[in-house]
Amino acid sequence: MIKKNSQAPTTMPERLIAPSFNPEDDAQERSVRPRNLREYIGQDTVKESLKIYLQAAIERRDPLDHILLYGPPGLGKTTLANIIAAEMGQSIRITSGPAIERPGDLASLLTNLAAGDVLFIDEIHRMSRAVEEVLYPAMEDFALDIMIGKGPSAKSIRLDLPRFTLVGATTRAGQLSAPLRDRFGILFRLELYSVEELSTIITNAARILKVPVEADGVNEIARRSRGTPRIANRLLRRVRDYAQVRADGTVTRDVAMKALDMQEIDGLGLDRVDRAMLESMIKKFGGGPVGLETLAATTGEDPITIEDVYEPYLMQLGFVMRTPRGRVAMPAAYRHLGIAEPSAPAEQIRMDMQ
Ligand code: ADP
Repeated sequence: MIKKNSQAPTTMPERLIAPSFNPEDDAQERSVRPRNLREYIGQDTVKESLKIYLQAAIERRDPLDHILLYGPPGLGKTTLANIIAAEMGQSIRITSGPAIERPGDLASLLTNLAAGDVLFIDEIHRMSRAVEEVLYPAMEDFALDIMIGKGPSAKSIRLDLPRFTLVGATTRAGQLSAPLRDRFGILFRLELYSVEELSTIITNAARILKVPVEADGVNEIARRSRGTPRIANRLLRRVRDYAQVRADGTVTRDVAMKALDMQEIDGLGLDRVDRAMLESMIKKFGGGPVGLETLAATTGEDPITIEDVYEPYLMQLGFVMRTPRGRVAMPAAYRHLGIAEPSAPAEQIRMDMQ
């Protein structure tokens, strides 16, 4: 769960386009979650390499090298970790950085692994330094160093661990300490999905959930899903409800548009908060540059959430650019909001880039 900025009103509802996990997703996601690489849509470069590494490891009867997956939330990191274990024919243990509070917690997780198991640590950048240090020898030598006793008589003993594969996931690879990052043999960056890929994901999910859909309806949901499968699945569920109550149950383009317009999610997937943020950049700050903290204060979101979660999509759309002096609203954002562009934005941006 992502912490909201303290300035945010506490009654603010969860954003429908928030790619972070919410409890309602849980049961539904489990049923539509792909179980093997064939069902995992998109991320072709990652899949291509992964297939080679999997085959090589299986042929050598070795566990796979440790893998770091990074990219914004909701893009399929947890799903991919599960698929890796399934493709290797091994079990997976799932935990997260914040859940491992003390070095002892990690030690007990590690000693309970079986040979070949996959250990998945979500939000691995949020592990404490002390916990991280237990992980170094575990990743490198499959060993656990334990201190026995205290004071001058204390000594360290080394326990052998089963050979396992660590899959770490993070939204911020930059926040990982260098020693931890270096211990991953494979680094995969997950990208936002195209509308075509999201359409396939939505069509597959609709088949599983037995929701009748038309191609145009699917495409409309895909265009508003911000390149993120988790959002695509969530929007499909909301449109399904609307189709059931206000129409004949089929997701047509018209139904999808009406359902999502009602939620104030526009044709490109921006919601009220995105539009308010862009509008304040343009109207209050002359298009920027605006500092991240200021944006956080105007939207009530926490700066890390803006940076990791909302900005990647706005940048992909070409609406926002990061410059050393802050964020700048680009001409495409003015056009989308129907605001007249200033006469020489390009010049201003060039200056800001220097
Ligand atoms: P992350 O761990 O990156 O936050 P998840 O792996 O939990 O994201 O993905 C969220 C949901 O999106 C999954 O439950 C799954 O239904 C869907 N999903 C993610 N990636 C894919 C994909 N490549 N193909 C199909 N569905 C996907």
